[in-house]
Amino acid sequence: NAKPAAATEAAEETPSEASTEEALTAAEESLMRKVMRKGIIESKNNVEVYRKDPNNPLYSVKDFEALNLRKELLDGIYDMGFKLPSKIQETALPTLLADPPVNMIAQSQSGTGKTAAFSLAMLSRIDPKKRCTQALCLSPTLELALQTLESITKMGMKCTDISIRAAVKGETVARGQSVNEHIVVGTPGKVLDWVKKYKCLDLSQCRVFVLDEADVMIATQGHQDQSVRIHKHLPSSCQMMLFSATYEDQVVEFAEAIIPNPVIIRLHRNEETLENIRQMYVECKNEEEKYLAISNIYTIPVGNSMFFCHTKRSASSLASRLKQDGHQVALLTGDLTPDERVRVLTRYREGQERVLICTNVLARGIDVESVNLVVNYDLPVKPGSREADCETYLHRIGRTGRFGKTGNAINIVEGRSDILILKEIESHFNIKIAKLDYNNVEEIE
Ligand code: ADP
Repeated sequence: NAKPAAATEAAEETPSEASTEEALTAAEESLMRKVMRKGIIESKNNVEVYRKDPNNPLYSVKDFEALNLRKELLDGIYDMGFKLPSKIQETALPTLLADPPVNMIAQSQSGTGKTAAFSLAMLSRIDPKKRCTQALCLSPTLELALQTLESITKMGMKCTDISIRAAVKGETVARGQSVNEHIVVGTPGKVLDWVKKYKCLDLSQCRVFVLDEADVMIATQGHQDQSVRIHKHLPSSCQMMLFSATYEDQVVEFAEAIIPNPVIIRLHRNEETLENIRQMYVECKNEEEKYLAISNIYTIPVGNSMFFCHTKRSASSLASRLKQDGHQVALLTGDLTPDERVRVLTRYREGQERVLICTNVLARGIDVESVNLVVNYDLPVKPGSREADCETYLHRIGRTGRFGKTGNAINIVEGRSDILILKEIESHFNIKIAKLDYNNVEEIE
């Protein structure tokens, strides 16, 4: 929920300007995380397993070979660059692939390998000889459905006898035709239309049903209802799985209503910490000095960096000024459409721009381990106040699962009131933030 961040922005801008930058929806945040994430998030925590069915002893696999997959599927996995199963995959995959099928509810932070796990489960249950839909995955939005479709398509690249189809806005089925692709990935509205209104999608042969991003699904009006209605068209033998990044009561209720006798597995998020993050500050007298400091910081060769600004106005003016001075930067604000955001993030992730400038609102959707330097061009403050927002500070700077890699954080401080905010942050986390001379930023390499 990005509401507080939106309110912060509102505090600094005139009402009309502020109203154009709205808080991101859960679906938008989720999409940004997906696009930003290249590799798996390693977790130090163990996977917890609940309600283990005693007749189904749960085991885990240490490599993909042990799963007895068809060769083409194994090749697909290795071609994607996967060497070993992730933590959640170790536990989930044997259960997802078990015979007889077992239902599952799995929760873990985004980026831990859930999509890859159910993509594999769907692909492995298809009988290519039968020309009918055997696996259905519901995603909350068109963009998220397409991301999932891409994951399944890549993994199934070598399984040329398996067909996949999207059921999203813009896709149509000609009158009298029916959908017979083996795997269908879509949004609840479109799938329900195909099943009930146009009767072109028959789910009676469906063997795997996946509800992806259940927490986001619930946050979207009507999706929960539609999912339940689709669920009614599935045969009772269909294996049901639900995936979620969070595990709030609402998610659990929804999950239990729709998934009978599930094995529940959860991987807790690593704590965000400020360990291994070198925190510094640069003191500036005015806006001009701030700009000078950031231009110097820009020249530090540290790999990827992110600059956080308080409002989209300050973010865009910083971006244009840096660009005018010949620096290459990417800008991400709420003014961009989902498509544009995906494009900006993809370019950044691929290294076309080393610096990403963004606002608070957008910052919440992003958690990347590959950022080496975080700069608070504006310090994080609570909505409408000059009080430090320590939670946002931790979220911007702290990292999960870093495994000893060091990161750097520089706070740009302007005037007395910023110094006070910095002091508040120091005492909250019981840390010392070192002073840095902005003319001499090379010290930080
Ligand atoms: P989630 O669905 O939990 O957000 P994904 O399945 O999308 O996670 O995985 C996150 C990223 O990690 C993707 O880029 C995916 O290709 C990659 N990935 C998934 N499983 C593995 C694995 N076993 N080894 C290496 N990379 C993986």
